[in-house]
This record gives sequence, structure tokens and C-alpha cells, in this order.
Amino acid sequence: MTDLSRRHLIKTAALVAGAGAGAGVSASTLAQSAPAFSAGSEGQSQGRHFARITADGSDVRALSLQQGFNRRWFAGNCEVIYLCYDTEGVAAALDEVIQRYGRRFSIKSGGHCYENFVFNPKIKAIIDTSALDQMLHTDHGYTLGAGCSNWDTHVWLLREGLCLPAGSCYSVGLGGHICGGGFGLLSRLHGLTVDWLSAVTLVVLEKDGTPAIKTVSKHSADADERDLFWAHTGGGGGNFGVITAYHFETLPKAPEAALIGNLAWQWADVDSARLGALLDVFAELSNDAPREFFGLFNLNHISAGGQFNLVYQIVSSEDIPVERLNAASRSIERQMTDIAAPVASVAPIIGQMCWLGQAPAKSKNIHTYYEALQQLNGSGPNQRSKYKSAYMKKAFPSDQVEKIHHWLTTQPDDIAPDDTAQTLVQVDSYGGAVNDVDGTDTAIAHRESIMKLQYQSYWVQNRSEPGDKDDRTGRALVRWLNDSYADIYSEYGGVPDPSSDPTGTVDGCYYNYPDIELSRPPRSIHDAMALYFKQNFKPDSKQSLDDSFAPKERHLMTIKNRWDPGRYFVHGQSIPFE
Ligand SMILES: Cc1cc2nc3c(=O)[nH]c(=O)nc-3n(C[C@H](O)[C@H](O)[C@H](O)COP(=O)(O)OP(=O)(O)OC[C@H]3O[C@@H](n4cnc5c(N)ncnc54)[C@H](O)[C@@H]3O)c2cc1C
Repeated sequence: MTDLSRRHLIKTAALVAGAGAGAGVSASTLAQSAPAFSAGSEGQSQGRHFARITADGSDVRALSLQQGFNRRWFAGNCEVIYLCYDTEGVAAALDEVIQRYGRRFSIKSGGHCYENFVFNPKIKAIIDTSALDQMLHTDHGYTLGAGCSNWDTHVWLLREGLCLPAGSCYSVGLGGHICGGGFGLLSRLHGLTVDWLSAVTLVVLEKDGTPAIKTVSKHSADADERDLFWAHTGGGGGNFGVITAYHFETLPKAPEAALIGNLAWQWADVDSARLGALLDVFAELSNDAPREFFGLFNLNHISAGGQFNLVYQIVSSEDIPVERLNAASRSIERQMTDIAAPVASVAPIIGQMCWLGQAPAKSKNIHTYYEALQQLNGSGPNQRSKYKSAYMKKAFPSDQVEKIHHWLTTQPDDIAPDDTAQTLVQVDSYGGAVNDVDGTDTAIAHRESIMKLQYQSYWVQNRSEPGDKDDRTGRALVRWLNDSYADIYSEYGGVPDPSSDPTGTVDGCYYNYPDIELSRPPRSIHDAMALYFKQNFKPDSKQSLDDSFAPKERHLMTIKNRWDPGRYFVHGQSIPFE
């Protein structure tokens, strides 16, 4: 470690101790105990703050740390990966990175970013927080290291009798996931993960690049620190500093059991009108069904065995005890199957959170909650992929249903059926407890939607290796996904822009599902930010035409300016400066 690093550590240690002064009880306590909370198990046992992993072929670990979950993204020119073991390690690593590489670095936790914000040819160094994997239960609540995976977190919390309404895909890292919102199968029941967040420990950079450790919370005495906390309730990763730990004063009780059901239909039996009827019922369920219900309506491309399917979960609760789960599922099943007769799933079920095998017609089983976590924890195989998103406040207009039906039941001329077989429009339930929170209380602005759509395409590029560019098929699939999306939202300018929608149907996009097309010319980064954050982006943000929110005091762009004065934290869709 350099002398300068040591000096900075002394400074940051002082900041940690000072951060709590005058703050509310919980903020103060969290701040004082933050460094111990965020130590990773490996580094702690070895007494090291970080490991410097050189990507020159001399260290077998480097290659694995240069590629994301999405095989499209590779940091081919990265020279060093700083594997950090505690908050001080992050501060020291950042110090060295800024001196050696300036702004050409990125931050990584689980490596699941949809776009190349972490792994790209421009960056020379990666601050890797995946070893900050400690989870602690203290007198003040629960602390989850930024490097914990979804799976480890869910299992650890279940041992405590608790749960987190986060995503279920096992390998996603909390570092990027929580600060972007953290939505999952329990979100209709318990809201978003950020709705439970109490404080965040992170390392920020002063204008001259000096690292400073902060624990910020909604109780912080300093208004700027309260703003910084708010920015972490949906403002997303790679924007304000390096997060080392998330703190929760309380968390909801875990369910005891869950019913997981699957209904599959043949595209051959479902014309556009029937698809519209099924989607209408799904929209009603998302709006009105008991909050224990969550549905993943996977509208696959017809090449996926000619079928599409609804996977749904109903968790037990005080209102729906285990013995009533079957009864609770009956009306859901009936409403959907009255429209079109379901069949057995012949093809593997694909889509985020639910990579499952084949299933008999109307399959339905009650699982222990642990088993349910295992059932619906699929991240899918490591492949190449492209994603897009859309929030919806109302049921699908008929023209959108017709277009979705057309795109999903037509084989593109330039792509073979085997290559489109992992392409789908996934319609997830939303709303419920998510919408109990005001759209300005957290940085997540989307608090009126009842469904969240995710356009996904996965493909295998045969005979490829890390760093290979997309081949012709990959490029065609990305184009197909972009074209279908632009067509489906053509009446709003090709994106689900609430400020162009007088009917109040669409409501923008999810920042944790980033899509680089949203900021490509003729659109700008400001246009993309308006879709991701609506009124929370900047003071004169475009809002929904029917927006009822009061003018906001907090804006992500203002907070970005305040907390990243040296403009160090920049990626392909980072929050822009004023
Ligand atoms: C298979 C799969 C399933 C998913 N399922 C869900 C889901 O169910 N619900 C949902 O809401 N989202 C889901 N997502 C999206 C996911 O929430 C985002 O991709 C998230 O940003 C991933 O976080 P990560 O740490 O794994 O990724 P990374 O690629 O490591 O990071 C993502 C972003 O966060 C930044 N970042 C990472 N760590 C830190 C840190 N410690 N401090 C500051 N910034 C950091 C990165 O720089 C980058 O900009 C899924 C993604 C995948 C690939």
C-alpha cells in the first residue's frame, strides 16, 4: 500500500468515526460499526484489505474477473482487478486506481449488468466488491455486504426467519441490484428492496480523488448525506461511489411455503384476440389479486416449441395459510384457462427468474419456502443476451397486443428458428405494496404501474471465446428486439414514454434493466434518464401527462453533481452532470 493510501485511510477512518456525530441513533450506530460490517470473510481471515490481480496472464483469477454474466461483455484491456476485502480496501484501491488510471475504471459486484458498463475495452482497472460477502445480524438490524449474491442472501435471511423482496436469480450481486431498486417475486407483497433500506456504506471520491468512507441514511444529520442515501434507493450502481454494505433496520417475515404453478398454451390455439383476453386477465390479477400472488407471463417466440406460459407463485401468509394455497390458486387458474385450454409444457420454460424444465398441463405444487427459492432462482446459462423494459400502468391496448402477437408468431427471414427459440416478452406482475410508496419517496419513480415488461433474447455463439464480438446472428437478434420494441411503442415515439402517452398506459423503463438504445441518437442520455427516473431525474424532468406528484426537492442529477464533483463515476448510462 502506498504512503498516500495510508494517509487516506487515516482520513477515512476519521470520517467514519465522525459521520455519526449529531446523527440519529441508528445512523450513528451504523456509521461507527460500518467497517467491521463490510469486511469480507476471505480478506478478514488473511488480514488483507485488497488483492491486486494483474491481468497479464500471470494470475489464473484475472480472466474470470474480466467477463460478465452476459458473454457479450469483456474487459479486454483491463490491467488490474482490485479484489477488495473490506471498506478500507475499497478506499485504498480507489486511491491507487485514480492515481494510476484516472477515470478508466469500473465497479463490479455480481457482474450481471445487462450492458457493458462494467466490462468494456475502455477500462483499465476494476474495483471488484464481490468478496464483500459478509451478512450480519446485530442489535441494530441486518447488514448485507455489497458482494453477497441473491442466493446467499435469501438462504441466510431464511435462517433468520426473514426475507427480502429482491430478485431471485441466484447469481445476481447485491452491489448493483439493491441500489437500482431490487424487485422480485415478493414485491407485490413487500414492495421493493429499497423500501426496506435504512442506510448504505460507501466510498465516495472528493474532487481531487481523495476517497472518503460514508455511511448515509435517512436519519443522517447532514441534508446532503440524506440526499445521497435517497439516491441509493433506485438511482443505480456506478454513479456516486463504491457501495460496500447495505443496512436494514427491519425486514419482513419469510413465507412458510409457496405454491408454484405453470400454465402453458400453444400459439396455434391463441390468436391476437385470445392473447388480448389472457393479457387482460393477467393485468387484472396484477392489479387486484392477493398480494401473495406474483406472475411471470412468458410470451415466448413461436420457435420456442410453439408455446408460451405463465409461471406463478402464491406464498403463504397470515391471510393465506398453507392449507389455503390450493384454494387461492383455483380462481387464478380458472380465469386464465377459461380463455384458452392449457397444454403440457413440452419445451424448457425460459425467462428471468424461471428457467425450468418441462411441466405437465396445469402443473401446480406446494413447496417449502426454501424449495420455492430453489425452484425459481434460475439465472439461466451463461449466454449472450439483450434486454429492454417497459412499465405499464394499465392493461395492454389492442394495437400493442396485435403487434406483440405478430412479432412473436412470425419467424424473421434472417434468423433461424433455433436462434430465436430463447426470445420472449416477459410480463411480470408489479404494483401491490410497490405502489404503497410515493414516487418521490425513493429514487424509484415508478409507483403506479401494475406490470413490468422485459424483452429478452438469449443466444449461443458457437466456437466463441471471451472478448469475441457478436456474430451475424447475434447482431440480427439485437436488431429484431430493437425493431419489435420500436414498433410496439411507435405511438409514443418508439419507447414507452409516459410524457407522450395521453392514455396513461406506459410508464418508462427500469434502470436495473439498462438498454443502451434508449440513449442512442436521435435520443439523448437525458431522454433515457427521463424514462428511467421520470420526475426524480432533474428539476425540469418530463413527467407523465397525468402526473399527480408534487414538485420534487431531490433530483438525481443534482445529487450526482454534489457527490461526484471530480466526475469519476461514469459509465455508458451513468447519471449525467448538470
Ligand atoms: C440473470 C439475471 C437476473 C436478474 N433478475 C433481476 C430481478 O429479478 N430483479 C431485478 O430487479 N433485477 C434483476 N436483474 C437485473 C440486476 O438487478 C442488475 O443487472 C444489477 O445491476 C446487477 O447487479 P450486479 O452487482 O450483479 O452487476 P454488476 O455488473 O456487477 O453491476 C451492475 C451495475 O452496478 C454497479 N455496481 C456494482 N457493484 C457496485 C458497488 N459495490 N458499488 C457501486 N456500484 C456498483 C456497476 O458498476 C454497474 O453499473 C437480473 C439480471 C440478470 C443478469
